[in-house]
Amino acid sequence: MNRDLFTLALHADDALAELPDVAPPLRPSTTFEFEEDGRTYRRMSHETTERLEAVLGALEGGHAVAYPSGMAAVAGVLRQIRPRRIALPEDVYHGVAAFVRTEAERGSWQEVSVDELGPGDVWWVETPSNPKCLITDLEATARNAAARRVTTVADATFATPILQDTLGAGIDYVVHATTKFIAGHSDAMGGIAVTATAEPAAALREARTLDGAIPGTLESWLTLRGVRTLPLRVLRQSESAARIASFLAEAGLPVWYPGLSTHPGHNIALRQMREFGGVLSFEVDSAQRAAAVVARLEVFTSATSLGGVESLAEHRQRSDPGAPPGLIRISVGLESADSLIGDLRTALDQ
Ligand code: PLP
Repeated sequence: MNRDLFTLALHADDALAELPDVAPPLRPSTTFEFEEDGRTYRRMSHETTERLEAVLGALEGGHAVAYPSGMAAVAGVLRQIRPRRIALPEDVYHGVAAFVRTEAERGSWQEVSVDELGPGDVWWVETPSNPKCLITDLEATARNAAARRVTTVADATFATPILQDTLGAGIDYVVHATTKFIAGHSDAMGGIAVTATAEPAAALREARTLDGAIPGTLESWLTLRGVRTLPLRVLRQSESAARIASFLAEAGLPVWYPGLSTHPGHNIALRQMREFGGVLSFEVDSAQRAAAVVARLEVFTSATSLGGVESLAEHRQRSDPGAPPGLIRISVGLESADSLIGDLRTALDQ
């Protein structure tokens, strides 16, 4: 990855600034006085959303279209591609599985295995996956899919554009829940879809205008402010997560973190990721013990979601009934790794 991600996060939208303000202005107007070639209405376009798309497109190395949530980006992409068949990976965000299966029941498409995919179908990838951080080989998937004229979509929410060059690996569509690391402060929902060439992004944008699925001004503004520090945050979160994963593994617990040599995707992750991310999962003996451990944590907050500056721990079965009973997912924030390890040690020792 040769792009200067630190500088792009700060300046990729400079040319789109309409005022001399150093910080992007917060302009809530939904309509604009008619001018030759000017903006007309908020559902079509807005400075802040376009600036956010410019930054995320530059970081990902493609053309970005913003949505009001990660799931809206997922739905926008799949409805645009309109595949006859979709294959999901073994471990996938439960909301994506619910969307794909609900639409399958309504006859929109069929869920099949990867081997059954043919031209025009969708091979859905999520790497690292939620919650087990399983790794998919992006280059191998893109090559295999291209040979069969299958369209690839990768959810790279856990990796962000900082840790993984998903489009560079040959994937057709990348989606992120910007609600997570990209906005980074647990205060703005959003999603983004990114394509290598301009044409599919333009088609997504046109459909988004018809659907009315453009993100709001405040959310775009908060996400733009958050993304300025994305590279710094993600690198520190990865460093702390690696230390926490080692601590938990040394305590004898099964740990799901691609930075550990015991993780099934470690060798692929070494090749395709710059660091291994700020999310990991580990397992204790039972659902009761998992609930008790999470309840005893004091620095971590017991909550779902991930990618924010504050550390969260979740007994995953509360949100995802398909998760292993004793699985605890943690999202590492910006507190010191020492205080987070100390918190886990105390909660596990009791
Ligand atoms: N993709 C992944 C990997 C997620 O973890 C999530 C949310 O947790 C989503 C997509 C959906 O994002 P949102 O909650 O912003 O709709």
